[in-house]
Amino acid sequence: MKFNEELKDIKTYSAGKPIELVVRDYGIDPKEIVKLASNENPYGSSPKVIEAVKKICDKMHLYPDDSMYELKEGLSKRFNVDKEQVIIGAGSDQILEFATRAKANKNSSVLMAKTTFAMYEIYAKGVGAKILKTASHQHNLDEFLDIYNKHNDISVIFLCMPNNPLGECLKKSDIYGFLSKIDEDTLVILDGAYQEFASYKDRDMQIDPRDITDKFPNVLYLGTFSKAYGLGGMRVGYGIAKEEIVKNLMKLRPPFNITTLSLKAAVEALKDNTFVENSIKNSFIQMKRYEEFATDLGIEFIQSYTNFITFLLKNKKNSTQISNSLLKKGIIIRDLKAYGLNAVRITIGKTKENDKFFKIFSSVYNAGQ
Ligand SMILES: *Cc1c(COP(=O)(O)O)cnc(C)c1O
Repeated sequence: MKFNEELKDIKTYSAGKPIELVVRDYGIDPKEIVKLASNENPYGSSPKVIEAVKKICDKMHLYPDDSMYELKEGLSKRFNVDKEQVIIGAGSDQILEFATRAKANKNSSVLMAKTTFAMYEIYAKGVGAKILKTASHQHNLDEFLDIYNKHNDISVIFLCMPNNPLGECLKKSDIYGFLSKIDEDTLVILDGAYQEFASYKDRDMQIDPRDITDKFPNVLYLGTFSKAYGLGGMRVGYGIAKEEIVKNLMKLRPPFNITTLSLKAAVEALKDNTFVENSIKNSFIQMKRYEEFATDLGIEFIQSYTNFITFLLKNKKNSTQISNSLLKKGIIIRDLKAYGLNAVRITIGKTKENDKFFKIFSSVYNAGQ
């Protein structure tokens, strides 16, 4: 069968290895497995969210409220924006897809950092757009601007702040300076999947969706409940932008794109700030241990504003071999070889998970495997 040309050039996204697969492949007791591969919240979900979801399990035969009134209300209060400026997706991933389909096409290019969230490229290739990347792996706005000024067909710019899978973040003032030089007809997607972490660590990095979309009407801000809020399994994300952008993205949204249980979970999660704050605080306390651990082993790492840390192994050890050796011992991390980097990304876990990681990683690393 012949498929669309655009698919030829797309590599299937591979998510972090699920625990089930490691159990099957290596015969390891699931309780022994430490998954530090998908930037999930190791503290689980807020107990209040779990209670609320349990209470509505008898509503599963009904379609969800397609207006998503409660969640839009919650988000509009949180961010001080109109409900018409909010769109909800099955993960912010789905909004990335709407936005790319709405704005990019085979006659246009999209621009992103060399090493960033893999789905940007996949969605853009899906609509036949040309992919432009900076030379630097991490976000360098001078390079972005340079490329932007040399091409007149750029329809979408992706900024991942902080960036997954590297963890770096830029100051708000630098981002604003960059945005002021971008034409209003170019859509800038500011992916804030880890903004809660960045703003906790450094106020200069904090992006306020209301302020940025007021000043720059061509910006689409994205947030997710999958990371700090601990709801990766529920698939809820949101976009905030000027009404004109949201109105157009809404045309591509399938009805009932979020489940009844996901809606409830997200609404309740927004109310439990303590859970989110504690998760973030603990994550950074544990991250310090990773930084010290790396320094002790002479491993370079990127200053991270997220819930993961990236070790740059340079030409000392092979990231694929290390990741595979860890996997056999029940530790799942992310090899960044597919991004052209000899590096590994590790989600910051709970104390005991990290203890286990340190012990096994150092033995594997020092053994030369
Ligand atoms: C996790 C993540 C997302 C989206 O996750 P969803 O679960 O689809 O909401 C988007 N961008 C980045 C950079 C991420 O790391």
